[in-house]
Amino acid sequence: MPRPPRYHLTSYGCQMNKLDAELVESRLVGAGYERASHDGEADVVLLNTCSVRQHAEDRVWSRLGVLRAQKRQRPELVVGVLGCMAQEHQRYLLARMPHVDLVVGPSAFGDIDAKVDEARQRNAGRRADDRRGAHVLAVGEGVSGDAIVRDPRVRPHRSQAWVSVMRGCNMPCSYCIVPSTRGPELSRPIPVIVEEVQRLCDDGVTEITLLGQTVNAYGRDLGPGVTLARLLRALHEIPALRRIAFITSHPNFLSAELIDALAELPRVARFLHLPAQSGSDRILKAMRRGYTAARYLARVDQLRAKAPDVVLHSDFIVGYPGESEAEFQASVDLMERVRFAQSYIFKYSPRPGTLAAELVDDVPDAVKAERNARLLEVQERHLASAAQALVGTVQEVLVEGESKVDGRWTGRTVHHRLVHFPSGDRVALGCYLPVRITQALGHSLLGELLAEDHAEVRAGARA
Ligand code: SF4
Repeated sequence: MPRPPRYHLTSYGCQMNKLDAELVESRLVGAGYERASHDGEADVVLLNTCSVRQHAEDRVWSRLGVLRAQKRQRPELVVGVLGCMAQEHQRYLLARMPHVDLVVGPSAFGDIDAKVDEARQRNAGRRADDRRGAHVLAVGEGVSGDAIVRDPRVRPHRSQAWVSVMRGCNMPCSYCIVPSTRGPELSRPIPVIVEEVQRLCDDGVTEITLLGQTVNAYGRDLGPGVTLARLLRALHEIPALRRIAFITSHPNFLSAELIDALAELPRVARFLHLPAQSGSDRILKAMRRGYTAARYLARVDQLRAKAPDVVLHSDFIVGYPGESEAEFQASVDLMERVRFAQSYIFKYSPRPGTLAAELVDDVPDAVKAERNARLLEVQERHLASAAQALVGTVQEVLVEGESKVDGRWTGRTVHHRLVHFPSGDRVALGCYLPVRITQALGHSLLGELLAEDHAEVRAGARA
């Protein structure tokens, strides 16, 4: 009997991309494909790509160069580019990399197995230099990945899973390519999401992260009353679910209803990713973010008044076109005021196809680098003092895996803080264990394992 065809899939970029990769794998495994451990033993090599930053694209271009050499040796090998670069570059991609057989955008993953089959048939018996009619191109319209009935066994962690609740984005941010690669917002109905999460829980999942580019705008395309808050309340009814997180939120949709849900639902994770991007009103307007720094801070104050234990995460862009020293200082001031638990700080780089790419990128690289370092320094200072304040407290840690340091395990608190601790002999992957924090390291905490029925954790102690 011939062996089943094998695929090797690499995913770049955000969590949404990683989830898409799981859905694609789910579909391929369901169609009889087997996972290969590396490109060399695969019949089909798939790259699930990201266009948000130049660096992510560069890695894909270079990997495709390596695959070109492999394809010369094995003309029947199917090379596929999936995701944002497929959508964004389409025919340019085929012109620059003619050895690519398959180009599939994020809105057309739903029948990926059929597309891979078609590419394999077209390739069968073909010579390496014969590329006539070789490509399968599926971008724009198509069957969405959300149409895939997910195989709950195909996921990287036993107790954790990502769940897509919506795709696309309707916001007009001037620097962002997502609305053109992912299309407009499309939310999944609450019962469909609840059913998927229930199946995941039946298979051992206890922590989910709901994914959407603007996850707290969830439901506005489904009609009045369908909101993220209602979805959280529906999911909170599933007894096996111990943590429910959601990313990424837009400040404009942090509603009173959502704040109430965060305050009232104890199993909703205690961190909120709420990118500020800048503290300068002029820059926020140029970015078309739709809020001012004062409005952002007012939302944060409302949240903290009702749910003071929720920590905030942010993103910042430094060196946006025209950003003056005073405008950059406004970002520093906003960070000092909010004291985020963590922030991703990016030096602005223009993405072709965005509005901002038409502006003169006039902040010199050295200035961008210097501002990046200064903002990072503020963030690190806040991180260090928050971590130090946790020393001596007891945290409930969901064990995610073995640490890089021998004999230690790694997990996360309900605030998404990374904790390492010596394993002892009772530790098991996917367990929730009480750990006393003994030391604050740079970006993580060190702790010691306590008896499993430790009272402080039973009482739900949180810092
Ligand atoms: S909210 Fe803005 S930055 Fe976020 S995905 Fe949409 S357009 Fe991009």
